[in-house]
Amino acid sequence: MKAGLFGGTFNPVHSGHVLIMSDIIDAYSLDSVIIVPAAVPPHKPADYMADINLRLEMTRLAFAGLPRCRVSDIEAKRGGRSYTIDTVHYFLKNLSSEPELFFIVGLDAFLELDTWKDYMALLKTIPFIVINRPLTDGAGQQALASFLTSKISPGYVFSPQRDVFVDDRFMPVFFHKTPAIDISSTQIRERLKTGRPVQDMLPDDVEQFIKERGIYQ
Ligand code: ATP
Repeated sequence: MKAGLFGGTFNPVHSGHVLIMSDIIDAYSLDSVIIVPAAVPPHKPADYMADINLRLEMTRLAFAGLPRCRVSDIEAKRGGRSYTIDTVHYFLKNLSSEPELFFIVGLDAFLELDTWKDYMALLKTIPFIVINRPLTDGAGQQALASFLTSKISPGYVFSPQRDVFVDDRFMPVFFHKTPAIDISSTQIRERLKTGRPVQDMLPDDVEQFIKERGIYQ
């Protein structure tokens, strides 16, 4: 059994999140993915953060069509600041099937890993799958390599057969080299605020939910 954990603020969840999960489930033969919306993100002051219950509901609607995905309210229930290390330990202890767990994260978020609580311990605890994202310099793999070797361990080397960085003291970091999808929650919040269309960026049910509840206006 293999399972992924996918954390984020999902403010709001968007079509990029859903497309990427579908792709990653196939690419890494995952049996399941647990999506974990964060209650209050410790390192991400957003311009506007919708209530966690609304974000949970939107995330459930977005992933309803992907049977291997489920949404967890663990961070919502814990309340306060959410730390990935705590969430990872929770699932390692509490998943009855004891799957091989992977933490799935976008490149932008991974490149800030050195600001996360206990990040060195985290990289000794769980392998990562890092998703390519549009960067200003366009060089995702190079950015990842230089981050890992300068901030984590100079011993990380890239294995091109499996697109993975390995180091004998840390967990592997897979680089999911999919063509980057240029959709972000920030763009969507800005478009909604100024009344511009968002229909190609969000699942239909999520767009309808946002309109009905008047979120991000
Ligand atoms: P914001 O614009 O508010 O920063 P976001 O679009 O990055 O939000 P998050 O909720 O932070 O959305 O995303 C959860 C996770 O999904 C993060 O690890 C993020 O890097 C990743 N992610 C989000 N959008 C994409 C995308 N288009 N391509 C690849 N990864 C993505």
